[in-house]
Amino acid sequence: MTAISYPVAVVTGASSGIGEATARTLAAQGYHVVVGARRLDRLEKLASDIGGTALSLDVTDEDSVAAFVAALSRVDVLVNNAGGAKGLAPVAEADLDDWRWMWETNVLGTLRITKALLPKLIDSRNGLIVTITSVAALEGYDNGAGYTSAKHAQALLHRTLRGELLGKPVRLTEIAPGAVETEFSLVRFEGDAERAAKVYEGIDPLVAADIAEIIGFVASRPAHVNLDQIVVRPRDQATAGRFARRTT
Ligand code: NAP
Repeated sequence: MTAISYPVAVVTGASSGIGEATARTLAAQGYHVVVGARRLDRLEKLASDIGGTALSLDVTDEDSVAAFVAALSRVDVLVNNAGGAKGLAPVAEADLDDWRWMWETNVLGTLRITKALLPKLIDSRNGLIVTITSVAALEGYDNGAGYTSAKHAQALLHRTLRGELLGKPVRLTEIAPGAVETEFSLVRFEGDAERAAKVYEGIDPLVAADIAEIIGFVASRPAHVNLDQIVVRPRDQATAGRFARRTT
């Protein structure tokens, strides 16, 4: 067990983007933040910046999740953020490995870590689970079925838990962002920076800190206030696939 002061927030996928920004925000709000992801070097730097704890975590691996959970003595807040997309292909050309990656990471990854930490969240007497889904959890779009189906499934897992935990001292908040400029598109397009940049071309996308601030707001509400679902998009985005792009 790691000796840590309370309250404790766990952020998965904290080695970049929304997770990293969220770890910084929650630390500034007084949480001891335990950051998990596969790239431990990045996590260690972040943990030293915020006075938190870096722990290696692969949410697709049972043993990794078990070791991560065993290192924690108490958890007040869990931010299910680890996730992402791979590829952008029509169903007719679906790459099964990409689909497996998306379902393993977003759906089963969220399930593994949430299930394992539930007893600790309940024991905290004022637990909070924030799950980062997406506008892709609210609608589908062409060529996106691998990601949209995974995000729908992840969201249903989270929303089901809201009912199943009724009467227990745990709040649940789903945050469904539109386009946020992070490493998300770089990962989706296997490191193709030019293609990734085009996703945000001509719009003012959200940035990771925008989502982190919302999570900070959610976490600082009184215990009886449950923000169930928050949908947040850039002003330049109306639906998952509809953007106002400047051409000049
Ligand atoms: P990002 O910069 O690519 O960050 C993704 C994070 O997930 C990284 O820290 C990565 O860390 C971690 N991760 C991936 N696979 C993992 C695994 N198997 N085990 C543990 N951690 C893993 O992208 P982001 O935009 O911040 O994404 C965060 C979440 O927001 C995701 O769930 C994404 O689906 C969601 N989201 C993003 C957007 C957007 O437009 N950016 C919109 C809506 C929703 P390692 O590689 O070091 O493990």
